[in-house]
Amino acid sequence: MNFIDATTQEVDAAVREAHLAYLSYKNLSGKKKGEFLRAIADEIEALGDTLVQTTMRETNLPEARVISERGRTTGHCRMFAQLVEEGSWVEARLDSAQPQRAPLPRPDIRKMLVPIGPVIVFGAANFPLAYSTAGGDTASALAAGCSVIVKAHPAHAETSELVAGAIKKAGTKTGMPPGVFQHLHGMSFEVGQALVNHPLIKAVGFTGSLVGGKALFDLANKRPEPIPVFAEMSSINPVYLLPESLAKNFEKTAVMLANSITQGVGQFCTNPGLVIAVDNDGLKKYIKRLSEEIVKAPAGTMLHQGIANNYHKRVAETLAQKGITIEAQGAEGSALQGRATIVSVAAKDFLKNPMLAEEVFGPLSLIVKCADINELNAVVARQHGQLTSSIIGEEAEIEKHQNLLNLLKEKAGRLIINGVPTGVEVAPSQNHGGPYPATTDSRFTAVGTDAVKRFVRPVAFQNFPESVLPPELKTGNPLNIWRMTDGNWSK
Ligand code: NAP
Repeated sequence: MNFIDATTQEVDAAVREAHLAYLSYKNLSGKKKGEFLRAIADEIEALGDTLVQTTMRETNLPEARVISERGRTTGHCRMFAQLVEEGSWVEARLDSAQPQRAPLPRPDIRKMLVPIGPVIVFGAANFPLAYSTAGGDTASALAAGCSVIVKAHPAHAETSELVAGAIKKAGTKTGMPPGVFQHLHGMSFEVGQALVNHPLIKAVGFTGSLVGGKALFDLANKRPEPIPVFAEMSSINPVYLLPESLAKNFEKTAVMLANSITQGVGQFCTNPGLVIAVDNDGLKKYIKRLSEEIVKAPAGTMLHQGIANNYHKRVAETLAQKGITIEAQGAEGSALQGRATIVSVAAKDFLKNPMLAEEVFGPLSLIVKCADINELNAVVARQHGQLTSSIIGEEAEIEKHQNLLNLLKEKAGRLIINGVPTGVEVAPSQNHGGPYPATTDSRFTAVGTDAVKRFVRPVAFQNFPESVLPPELKTGNPLNIWRMTDGNWSK
C-alpha cells in the first residue's frame, strides 16, 4: 500500500488541531485519560491477526516476536493508565504560608507537574509496535496530558496506519477531543522536520539512529523557541568479563552471550556489541566456546534492505580496521540477511581507533583483549555513553573492582550483573536511557512509568485561593494522592 507524504498545509493543520485538542485534553481527569489509554490497548488487541500479519509482512519479524511486542505495547498503555488513574505521579508539593515569619512572611506555595504541550513522536524500524505509533513515547505523552502527532515510520507504514486507526477509535469511544492523536506519513525527511519546526510543537520523542536523532535535536535547538528532544539512539552495551568468573564459567557465559548477540538478528538497541576482558586462558576458552555457537547461527532476515545494506557495509569497514581478527562467523545468507560475526582486537589497537567504539546495528560483536586490569580500566574510560553496561563476575571478585563499578556508573543508564543487556523489563524501576550518544538527555527514561516525566514541566502556584487550585493541590486532597506537605509525605 502506498501512502502519500503530508503536505506543508497538512502538517500545519494537524499541529493546529493537536494544539486545540491539547487545550481541552490536558484538563481531563486522570480517570478519563486512563480510560482512553485502556481503550487504546483494547482496540490494538481487537485488530487481531490483521495487525500481526501486516507487521510480519512489513518487518520480516517472526510471529512470536510480533505477538510479544504487541503484548508489551498494550501492557505499557495499561501501565500508564494505572499511573494516571492513581494520580500521585504529578509530585504535588505543598508548603503552607507562614505570615508571622521574620524578617519576611512566607507565602503559600504549591507545585505540581503539568503537561508540556503537543508532542511529535518518531518511532524506530526495529520496534514497529513498542517504539512506534502506540509506543512508549506516545503512551507516556498521552498519560502526561499532551496531544500527540506520530510521524509514521516508512518501513512499517501500514502497521502504523492500523495502530493509528485503533488509537483514533479509542479516542472516539471514550469521548476524547478530536485531534488529540494524529498520524502523518512521510517518506522524505521534510515532513518530520516541518513538524519539529512548527511553533506550536513543544517536545519531540524520537527512537532511531544517532544521525537521525542528532539531526532533529540540532533542528529543535535552532528554533526561535528551542524545545526538548528526547532521542533514544545508539549504544553498544559493553560486557565486562572478570577473570576469576571467566575461568570457571566460560562455557555458560559463552552460550548466554551467543544467544544475546544473535537474538533478533542483533537488531536491538541493547545488543552486546562489545565484550571486554583480560587476555588469559579463560578468555581463550570463552572465545573457542562462543565460536562453536556462532558458526551454528543461521543467517537471519533483517528488517529491511536499507538496514541490511548498512550492516554489510559496517561489517566490511570493521574487518578492514588495523588489528581486527575474525574469530567466528555464522551462515552467510542472502543480501537481506545478517551474518553473525565475532571479531577481536587488542586493547592497544582499540584505544587508538574511535570507529571501533561506534554502534554496528546487527549481530556483530567485538572482543577487546586487555593486557591487564589497568588496560581494561583504560578501555572503560574511553567508552561513550551507553544504555547498559554489564559485568560478569563472582560477587567477591566484583567487590574488588569498585573502581570499575564507579567508572561504569558514569557511562551507562543501566548496570547489569551476570546478565545480558537484551531484554528490557517494563517496570517503574526501569531506566532505559543513558549519557550521549545513547540519548540526548540522560536524566530521563524511555521505558517504565517515569517516561511520563519527559513530557511535563513543574508549575508553582503562589497564594492561590482554594477555589482555583487544581484538585491535586487542594488542601483537602480530594484525589487522595501522595503529596509532600511541609516536608512530610502523606495522603
Ligand atoms: P532512523 O533511520 O533514524 O529512523 C527513525 C525515524 O526518524 C524515522 O521515522 C525516520 O524517518 C526519522 N528520521 C531519521 N532521520 C531524520 C532526519 N534527519 N530528519 C527527519 N526525520 C528523520 O532509525 P531506524 O533505522 O528506524 O532505527 C534503527 C536505530 O534505532 C538503531 O541505531 C537502534 O540502535 C536505534 N534504536 C534505539 C533504541 C533506544 O531505545 N535507544 C531503541 C530502538 C532502536 P525516515 O525513515 O523517513 O527517514
